[in-house]
Amino acid sequence: MSLLTELEAIVGSNGLLQGDAVAARPNENMGHGSCPAAAIVRPANTEQLAAVMKLCHQHNQPVVPMGGLTGLVNGTQCQPGQIGISTERMRTIENIDELAGTMTVQAGVVLETAQNAASEHGWQLAMDWGARGSAQIGGALATNAGGNSVVRSGMAREQVLGLEVVLADGTVISSMNEMLKNNTGYDLKQLFIGSEGTLGMITRAVLRLRPACNAVQTAMIAVDDFASVGKILRHLGSAFEGKLSSFEVMWQSMTDLLIKETGRHQNLFDADHGYTILVESSGVDEQREAAQFEQALGELLEQELAADVLIAQSSQQAAQFWALRDDIEGLMGALYPLVPFDVSLPIRDMHAYTQAITERLQAALPDCRCIIFGHLGDGNLHIVAGPTEQKELVQEIVYGELAQFGGAVSAEHGIGVDKRAYLSHSRNDAEIALMKTIKQALDPADLLNPGKLFS
Ligand SMILES: Cc1cc2nc3c(=O)[nH]c(=O)nc-3n(C[C@H](O)[C@H](O)[C@H](O)COP(=O)(O)OP(=O)(O)OC[C@H]3O[C@@H](n4cnc5c(N)ncnc54)[C@H](O)[C@@H]3O)c2cc1C
Repeated sequence: MSLLTELEAIVGSNGLLQGDAVAARPNENMGHGSCPAAAIVRPANTEQLAAVMKLCHQHNQPVVPMGGLTGLVNGTQCQPGQIGISTERMRTIENIDELAGTMTVQAGVVLETAQNAASEHGWQLAMDWGARGSAQIGGALATNAGGNSVVRSGMAREQVLGLEVVLADGTVISSMNEMLKNNTGYDLKQLFIGSEGTLGMITRAVLRLRPACNAVQTAMIAVDDFASVGKILRHLGSAFEGKLSSFEVMWQSMTDLLIKETGRHQNLFDADHGYTILVESSGVDEQREAAQFEQALGELLEQELAADVLIAQSSQQAAQFWALRDDIEGLMGALYPLVPFDVSLPIRDMHAYTQAITERLQAALPDCRCIIFGHLGDGNLHIVAGPTEQKELVQEIVYGELAQFGGAVSAEHGIGVDKRAYLSHSRNDAEIALMKTIKQALDPADLLNPGKLFS
């Protein structure tokens, strides 16, 4: 019996995709390319997935874990002959504990489905970003995703209490802890969160929910100098009494492009400003939150930290603010072909860093634009350079300067294939050697997502 026939016997004919059904799926970021895998297996539960992994291990068959395919570092890219294992049929929310505030899910549950389920039970899942309608919980945890609420609740790993994974040889490690405190030896789940499918395949998780904070206030703040941006972050952090839930900053290069050049958005301020901050606070008492929000923003104007402030008067206006910040499609369209970055560095160094890369890119590639924005409250900048075909030169400039400030080449998207060559910019030799030791211990035959993270 061939391997594919044996796999089909485990997952059923509906669980095995071959031929055109595989080729129709993307192989690269943002839905590009055609998947060259020999097959995509779609188990329905942990038992099937473990049997699939065990069989592939016996056949020395490399496999590539797949979630919602929204990753941005080509982490699900397949080589011909590899087999994809998708969690798309593992979509059950198994339990929501309303008293404890926990949710038990299969890995294939889509982020937005989990968010809605939490909110129907009076809780909130503190994970959110633009790809919420497609990204899955398994993919989110495998990449330790960040997003829009990290400044308050931390990254994906901080929303996880328990995890179940299947190792490369099919062994199931069920560590479905539901308690906040559990110091019984190594915290094994953290090994797999952020490991990008190279150490084990995530099958289920116990997620920690947060109290629902539905009284959301949103504003845009116009600022003329970067020094004020950092001071505003600090001021609002305490003025909102810890309820600051988003602090996103757009450099003028981005607002000019999306407002003046593409005409996709309206200029909401009367004048141009160096930086536009999108800020949100989330609490429980609508009236109290609104008063506190208004007062804190008024203080920014009084202290001349902000040049202008616009508080959203409705959820539609708040959505209009977010549409500008989230218009990745507009950026892609205007700058293609482009080189995207997701870096982090201390806020104190951001001005010097962004000036240095902008000047060096301008000198090296006068027609290439450098657009900067990001989750600044988390020390995370997204940089988009384009249009340009000079990917390596741009990467050398952006990552080369970053190394001087001790920054990270990936803040939230991971390493995948795209950033492998630059891992050593952010991790020292001893760290990389230890990572390889862990990989060797768990997957000595290098069958699980080979070629990702390390060459
Ligand atoms: C418009 C847009 C906005 C985005 N915004 C953000 C953002 O703000 N912050 C952020 O962090 N990311 C963001 N992303 C990136 C992406 O959504 C996240 O990386 C997400 O976590 C990927 O989830 P996924 O289910 O699509 O995973 P996939 O893309 O399918 O996989 C990602 C990686 O995880 C591995 N993997 C997938 N499932 C499993 C599993 N069950 N077990 C083990 N490994 C697995 C894959 O092999 C791959 O290496 C954005 C993407 C888009 C398209």
